[in-house]
Amino acid sequence: MGKKNLLKNYCKISSQRKKLNALQKKRLTSFQIRRIIICVLFLIIGICLLFAYKIVFFPRIRLEGSSVVVVDYKGNYKEAGYLSSYQGKNITNSVKVKGKVNTKKIGVYPITYTVSYQGHTVSKTRIVKVVDNKKPKIEFSTNKNALYICPNTKKYLFDDYRAIDNYDGDITNLVVVKKKGSVMRYEVKDTYGNRTVVERKIVYKDTENPKLTLNSSQTLMLMVGDEFSPSTYQVSDNCSTDVKVKVTGVVDTSKAGEYQKIYEATDEAGNVTKIVQTVVVMEPVKKGVIYLTFDDGPRSGTTDIILNVLKEKGVKATFFVTSGGPDDLIKRAYDEGHSIGLHTASHDYSIVYASADSYFNDLQIVSDRVEKITGEKSTLIRFPGGSSNTISRRYSSGIMSYLTKEVVNRGYRYYDWNIDSRDAEGGKFSADEIANFVINSLSHDRVNMVLMHDIKVATKDAIGRIIDYGKSHGYTFEAITPFTDMVIQRVNN
Ligand code: ZN
Repeated sequence: MGKKNLLKNYCKISSQRKKLNALQKKRLTSFQIRRIIICVLFLIIGICLLFAYKIVFFPRIRLEGSSVVVVDYKGNYKEAGYLSSYQGKNITNSVKVKGKVNTKKIGVYPITYTVSYQGHTVSKTRIVKVVDNKKPKIEFSTNKNALYICPNTKKYLFDDYRAIDNYDGDITNLVVVKKKGSVMRYEVKDTYGNRTVVERKIVYKDTENPKLTLNSSQTLMLMVGDEFSPSTYQVSDNCSTDVKVKVTGVVDTSKAGEYQKIYEATDEAGNVTKIVQTVVVMEPVKKGVIYLTFDDGPRSGTTDIILNVLKEKGVKATFFVTSGGPDDLIKRAYDEGHSIGLHTASHDYSIVYASADSYFNDLQIVSDRVEKITGEKSTLIRFPGGSSNTISRRYSSGIMSYLTKEVVNRGYRYYDWNIDSRDAEGGKFSADEIANFVINSLSHDRVNMVLMHDIKVATKDAIGRIIDYGKSHGYTFEAITPFTDMVIQRVNN
């Protein structure tokens, strides 16, 4: 029994010791926790102190706007701004900014803002990302909504699309074109994966006009009696192989006049291309005819007296007018059967020969004036100083060479002279002398184009004698018409 009790007691003690040990272990753990908490507290206090120290003794920088900025390629980057202070004092001016953004180059650009104050330096960084977010554009030279395909040949063209990207430029060669049922699909992707898809409806219809070109000039100048045959031509069409060409209009080369020949090409879908050829049939050269021409008017007191003499003697003449003088003298001359030509509005060499544009602008002013008064557009021109003048060289080198061709291209005819009455030479000559200059130069073997000025007093007194002499010596007097052969001098500029 004694032995049994001993063992029992031993076990009891042993279990109590175990309990004590566990208790001691437990106490040790909570002690450690307390130590950790204290450590953490110290750490927090330390950080706070450091923070407070920094706040008090370090300068501060604040960035306006976002610290990460995304800018489009080739877009605008604008600095959002920043503020810096030290103990309540604004020291923004002391901030140094480093780093540059190049929006023309894709990339990441850091911008650093640094301020040093009272021995302390602080920095902040803003990240600027230049990216390509823009989709490429697909453009069509024809209809952007529909792709027309020839109904008969089923032929279609892909080459009217173009792909342009803000970064890659022309990426037309990257476009993938696919037919999807009744739709044509165009897809393209740029270097940065921006993708554009465009679809066009397929329409089986020929909308293009046939192409027609004449093998001869669109404006032809012929003389009475010349032969005329319609121009040969070339014709083609995007779809049709059977293009019909109809040629209409009558040209009568036995009679001076302006005629039209019309060439009309029609494809199978009914698209029409029309070309009008103008054929001018000029009068034959009229040997022994005198064309009295009067420049620079009209003018009251001279033009009206000249008109009286012409009326009395039954002679028609030509007046190359400017923007000066009264309208009713132009109206009277036109109504009495004289021809009205264009001499330019200003007659100022520095204006009319400054450039071709300047010449045609000035010509248009006088052309409008004449059309308004007579109801008819004049195609007759006399260049101030004649086409052989050298004064124009002062204002524009080579301008006469250009103008003499260009006025004809624009449907005008210009008339110089082969007899100078010398009435413009500063009143040097009397009416009799002027008449003699003209009379002594007349010839039955050519056209006699006489230069005179209806603004000159001596001229009005000279023409009666000239007309009387001409009539009694077998000459006839005519006004220039749009079909009178041009009398031209040699161009010197
Ligand atoms: Zn003149």
